Amino acid sequence: MPETAAMLDVRNPRTGKVDHRIAVASEADVAARAARLRANQPAWEALGIGGRCAVMARWLGAVKAQAMAIGEADAVDTGGCHTSYLQGFITMGNIGGWLEDAPRAFADLEFKAMSTSMPTVEVESQVVAYPLVGVISPWNAPLMLALLDAIPALFAGSAVLLKPSEVTPRVIEALFKTVALVPELAAVFDYVAGAGEVGQWVIGQADTICFTGSVPTGRKVAVACAERLIPCNLELGGKDPCIVTATADLDRAATAVLRGAVYATGQVCYSVERVYVHESVHDDFVELLVAKAAEVRLNHDNPRAGHIGPFTFAPQAEIVQRHLADAVAKGAVIRSGGTVEAIDGGLYLRPTILTGVDHSMEIMQDETFGPCIPVMAYRDTEEAIRLANDTHFGLTASVIAGTAEEAKAIGKRLNAGGIFMQDTFLTFAKLRTFGSDSFGWSGYGAPRIGPESLRRFLRRKSLLTQTGPVADIRNDHHLGGAK
Ligand code: NDP
Repeated sequence: MPETAAMLDVRNPRTGKVDHRIAVASEADVAARAARLRANQPAWEALGIGGRCAVMARWLGAVKAQAMAIGEADAVDTGGCHTSYLQGFITMGNIGGWLEDAPRAFADLEFKAMSTSMPTVEVESQVVAYPLVGVISPWNAPLMLALLDAIPALFAGSAVLLKPSEVTPRVIEALFKTVALVPELAAVFDYVAGAGEVGQWVIGQADTICFTGSVPTGRKVAVACAERLIPCNLELGGKDPCIVTATADLDRAATAVLRGAVYATGQVCYSVERVYVHESVHDDFVELLVAKAAEVRLNHDNPRAGHIGPFTFAPQAEIVQRHLADAVAKGAVIRSGGTVEAIDGGLYLRPTILTGVDHSMEIMQDETFGPCIPVMAYRDTEEAIRLANDTHFGLTASVIAGTAEEAKAIGKRLNAGGIFMQDTFLTFAKLRTFGSDSFGWSGYGAPRIGPESLRRFLRRKSLLTQTGPVADIRNDHHLGGAK
């Protein structure tokens, strides 16, 4: 980065103060870093999956040595929640999982056979990695979501240029200290800091893009990728519903909904954002939920001790307040929480439960991304399914019923990529077995979990060899044609 690089202030979500600065990449920096990665990528791909695994195993060792420091940096960036401190270990699990799975993901991709339509032609497939993958990632779970795409891309043989969120740069800096310790990896894995403009420059350089973030930005990314005719994988927002049936164990349901909705201050793409409860148990469920919510502690005095932290990104608190005000103006009743509290510079919201909600309210339609739980009564299963599917989004959904079979029968009719039965927040149970797609505004592209995740970064070529005589145009005879 040149000495004259523009600097950007970074706010600390716990203190509200600027205590960090980042050097913003210029368009020329982005181009230079992309060119370096592109030049180094052929040697990385030529290592083969075995050679790349050996390098990634050394990186795993470097991450292990820094796992605590990575977790601390993530906690400062995000304001701290339970998983922040685990991010170093989660990264180790991510790399370690791919060390086992990546060789299998390559299996069956290459074959050689004689053509069935032209029996003298041998057909051979070759897989080649996209040379340069651009990854653009958000401020929530900033490390996990940067690496969810970057790690399989590296295993696939691509070089990766990452553009993390400007809001949460500290954990990325901590991570790249470990990358620097592994020269073969540092040759093909780099990042550029800055805001949205820098993301656009990355799109201008990459051969394929993985984007995680909001729907409005995802649209801009998709348009920019379309202009360049490069593929893009989008993982966008959610408005994930949870259905609680009349037969459900209400205590279990309230426990699962509370965690699913307020974990990490609700700043999770697959947070529970709206709850539909059968009218016969609605009041009992709400009573239980309010009682449990009262026991959730803010972590302002000790980030390691409380249950939920401050908003990571201050403007998010304004969006949440706007949704709450809109709901109340249209007749909703706030049963707990409801007011953003400024404590020592951090912005906090206690679990906020609303009743009397309907689909005319923003809080039931748009992503809130805060610890809010709007609860709506439904009359019968058909209505519950109709309400749950009344959304532009489709990331995940959950169903809690008297039996798993009853829950699954409803789950099969919901439009979302991951459906959780008898619990919420089961997304990562999918890891390493198979992935799932998003529906609607929640994005598109192949699954980012499971073997398809790695295969997103591979292109197939056909090598066609004529083993017989070549065709002679003078022997071509046209039916009914001129002699
Ligand atoms: P944004 O869409 O605002 O930003 C995402 C990334 O894109 C950031 O790095 C941002 O940079 C960058 N960016 C901004 N403008 C542009 C542009 N014009 N071109 C290219 N890149 C750009 O999302 P947030 O960071 O606010 O993250 C929260 C959102 O992410 C929520 O909607 C959430 O649902 C979604 N999300 C989805 C997940 C999923 O897997 N489906 C997982 C987690 C979050 P900068 O921040 O520096 O401005």
